[in-house]
Amino acid sequence: MDLNYTDEQNAFREEVRDWLIETLPRDLTEKVRLGKRLTKQDSENWHAMLNARGWLAPNWPRQYGGAEWDAVQRQIFEDECCRAHAPRLVPFGLSMLAPVLMAFGSEEQRQRFLPRILSGEDWWCQGYSEPGAGSDLAALKTRAVRDGDHYVVNGQKTWTTLGQHANWIFCLVRTDPDVKKQEGISFLLIDMKTPGITVRPIVLVDGGAEVNEVFFDNVRVPAENLVGEENKGWTYAKYLLTHERTNIAGVGFSNAALETVKEVASKVQSGGKPLAENPHFAARIAQVEIDLMAMATTNLRVVSAAAKGQAPGAESSMLKVKGTIIRQELTSLLRRAVGPDALPFQEDYLDGGDNAEMMGPEHAAASSPSYFNNRKLSIFGGSNEVQRTIITKAIMGL
Ligand SMILES: Cc1cc2nc3c(=O)[nH]c(=O)nc-3n(C[C@H](O)[C@H](O)[C@H](O)COP(=O)(O)OP(=O)(O)OC[C@H]3O[C@@H](n4cnc5c(N)ncnc54)[C@H](O)[C@@H]3O)c2cc1C
Repeated sequence: MDLNYTDEQNAFREEVRDWLIETLPRDLTEKVRLGKRLTKQDSENWHAMLNARGWLAPNWPRQYGGAEWDAVQRQIFEDECCRAHAPRLVPFGLSMLAPVLMAFGSEEQRQRFLPRILSGEDWWCQGYSEPGAGSDLAALKTRAVRDGDHYVVNGQKTWTTLGQHANWIFCLVRTDPDVKKQEGISFLLIDMKTPGITVRPIVLVDGGAEVNEVFFDNVRVPAENLVGEENKGWTYAKYLLTHERTNIAGVGFSNAALETVKEVASKVQSGGKPLAENPHFAARIAQVEIDLMAMATTNLRVVSAAAKGQAPGAESSMLKVKGTIIRQELTSLLRRAVGPDALPFQEDYLDGGDNAEMMGPEHAAASSPSYFNNRKLSIFGGSNEVQRTIITKAIMGL
C-alpha cells in the first residue's frame, strides 16, 4: 500500500487550494475560524458557490451532477476546506438521502429530489431518533398507517439537527407493529409544510438551538413518497448510516484545531513563559498530535482501501472513537489555554453581531461554547460506547 500522494493528487490539492483562496469570502472564513454561529444564509451561500463550481457533491455520479471523485480526492478536498476555514456543508440531503435515493428510490424520486438538493431549493433533515429510540433505533414508534393513496403519520422525532431550517424530512416510521421490530419499518419523505407538523427547538448546553423535536399529528403523506418497499426501511436506514459515518475521523477539522491551539498557547503567558513551554501543557499537545498523526495514517489506509472499492469495516468505528476523542481533547486544550477569558458567555458576539462588544481576545469567545457543543461528537453518529462494542466483536472477536 502506497500512502504517498501522486503528482496528479498533489496538483488537485493545489487546484482546490487556489480556488478556495479566490472564492471564499473573508467574513465567512473569519466566522468559522472564530467559532461564531453560522446563519442559514451563510450555509446557503457556500452551498451555491460549490454548486456553481461543480464541486458540491463529490461522491455523486456525474449523471446526477456530481463530481464523481475517488476517496483520495474527497479526502484532499475535505482537508483543504478545513484548512481554509470553509463552513461545513449540511450533509442530510447531499450525503445521506441522495445515496439512498440513488440506490433504492424510484426514477421519479431521483428526478424530483436530486436536482433540488443541488440547487439548494430543498433543505433536508434527518428524522431517525425518537425519545425511546436512539442507540436502539429499531425501537422507534412513530406510526404510519396507509389510508388510500396516503400514509397518516403520528408520533415524535427528536434531536433533529437544523430541522428549523428544513422544508423536507426523511423519516423512519413504523408501518407494521406486529413483526420483529426491524421488519416493520419504512422510509418516508415528508414535506415539512404539511399540516400537523410542529417543530420545537431544544436549547443545548452551549446556548445554541441546532436541534429540535418534531411532532407529527395526523400528517397525511402521499404514498408516492415511500422510498423503496414498505417494511424494508431498516435496510435503507443502515445503508444511509454507512454514509453518515464516512469522514467521521474529522482529520481536517482536528488539524485546523491543533494549529489554533498551538498558536494560542504560543501567545498566552504562563509563569513568565509562553504556555506552549509549560511541560504539562506541552505534553498534552504532543500527545494529541501523536494521536492525530496515528489516526490520520489509519484514515489514509481506509481511504486507500475505499479508493480500490473495498468497504470500510470496523475501521470506521475506530476512526469514530479516536476522531471524536481527539476533537474533544482539542476543544478542552483551547479552553485551558484561554483560561479565565473562557468564562464570559458572549452570545451577541457568537451570533455574528459585528458591533457586539467582546470581552477578552477574539479566540476566547467561542472556546467554552465549542467545548460544550463538541460533547455531542461521542453521542451522535452511533455513540462511542456502541462503537467500542462493534470493535470488540468485529476486531477482537470477543
Ligand atoms: C447534537 C445531536 C444531534 C443529533 N442529530 C440527529 C439528527 O439530526 N437526526 C436524528 O435522527 N438523530 C440525531 N441525533 C440523535 C443521536 O443519533 C442519538 O442521540 C444517539 O443515537 C444516541 O441515542 P440516545 O440519545 O437516545 O441515547 P441512548 O441510546 O439512550 O444512550 C444513552 C447512553 O447509553 C449508552 N448505551 C446505549 N446502548 C448501549 C449499549 N448497547 N452498550 C453500551 N452502551 C450503550 C450510550 O452510549 C449512551 O452513553 C443527534 C444527537 C445529538 C446529541
